[in-house]
Amino acid sequence: MARQFDIPVFYKSSVISRVKTARHMQDPRKRDLLPTVLDFGAVRFILARHFGFCFGVENAVEIAYKTLEAHAEQRVFFLSEMIHNPNVNWDLQERGVRFIFTSSGAQLVPWDELTPADIVVVPAFGTTLEIQETLAERGIDPYTYNTTCPFVEKVWKRSAQLGESGYTVVVHGKATHEETRATFSHSIRSAPTVVVLDVKEARILAEVIQGTLGTEAFMTHFAHTCSAGFDPAQHLVRIGVVNQTTMLASETWEIAQMLQQAMVERYGAAQLPSHFADTSDTLCYATNENQNATYALIQHGADIGLVVGGYNSSNTSHIVELCEAAMPTYFIRNADEIASSQNINHFKLHTRQMATTASWLPAKRPLDIALTCGASCPDAIVEGVLFRVLSFFAATRSLEDVLQPYPELQRGA
Ligand code: SF4
Repeated sequence: MARQFDIPVFYKSSVISRVKTARHMQDPRKRDLLPTVLDFGAVRFILARHFGFCFGVENAVEIAYKTLEAHAEQRVFFLSEMIHNPNVNWDLQERGVRFIFTSSGAQLVPWDELTPADIVVVPAFGTTLEIQETLAERGIDPYTYNTTCPFVEKVWKRSAQLGESGYTVVVHGKATHEETRATFSHSIRSAPTVVVLDVKEARILAEVIQGTLGTEAFMTHFAHTCSAGFDPAQHLVRIGVVNQTTMLASETWEIAQMLQQAMVERYGAAQLPSHFADTSDTLCYATNENQNATYALIQHGADIGLVVGGYNSSNTSHIVELCEAAMPTYFIRNADEIASSQNINHFKLHTRQMATTASWLPAKRPLDIALTCGASCPDAIVEGVLFRVLSFFAATRSLEDVLQPYPELQRGA
């Protein structure tokens, strides 16, 4: 049975819990990716089969709140946002938590302010070895309150194994993201490492592997995202690909295929195992499930999409990218962004700015709204969005009626 975490009740939603529990009981092996339709009559919410807190986030939330409860007399710092969700981070800050770094790595609390009596919590993304060493030097154990997700640690372990076997590590990720900075820091201790952002960058790397581009081209693109002393002539002969766990899994796969093909062309298919390591076992299950559920949601179809989550959340951004290619999609952090049935405030991924869209709610009836969120978004926030939108429709079916196919579990059942 999957581990149950102790999550604060204000992050839970009775509506979403009923749906998720019923779907889980019907399909414990998670084979059915079809979305759930909550049919209120005038509006139908199409909920993705998988969304919301993943294992790593639940683990981090549980440790964070237990730490605060157990150490009310001590100062509690988080290295950075614990997860990329504003509501969770605001709540932690209201309880006295201070973040040492911003998400982009700017230091907010100088190291000199910290004393051995302070508690420092490592976020779910993990942290760099350099920061762990700095904490240890200041008398703070960096491992006692460590919420690093085991799936991130798995990537680090695999990177170390690759390095020990003489492979270079190619990280598919955003070089400035906390998790990729942490993975890079761990990886370079045992392997030459280079970070590639996307397929476009991977194509350049593939050309360097094939020999059609040289060291100069490599350095033009990767000087700031490769390990010190990286020599493409020497370090792109044996490689393995790992990823920032929240990247699009399909893109990681495409990048791995492209680099594998470059190795085949350079060294021949028979020599491939000596030049390319199979690392498909490092992909995060939750990212896979959420992205696959998003594809199924899109296939089902809807008139508009609402994706809920932090605007700096990588995994949520990828869900938005998938949805907006298929339907008008609004990326909102919570129900407060829905100003009215006329206006919605939302985050535009491509400009990375907020926008307000008028007449966002189509007049069509029944209206189908795809609703999902990222792995760091509490169910309560999604429920808030659902109720806010529902309030714009008159004479809808009752909630109990709509939830009737998803019976509440009796205590002890
Ligand atoms: S998305 Fe995956 S790797 Fe990231 S915290 Fe969740 S379970 Fe862990």
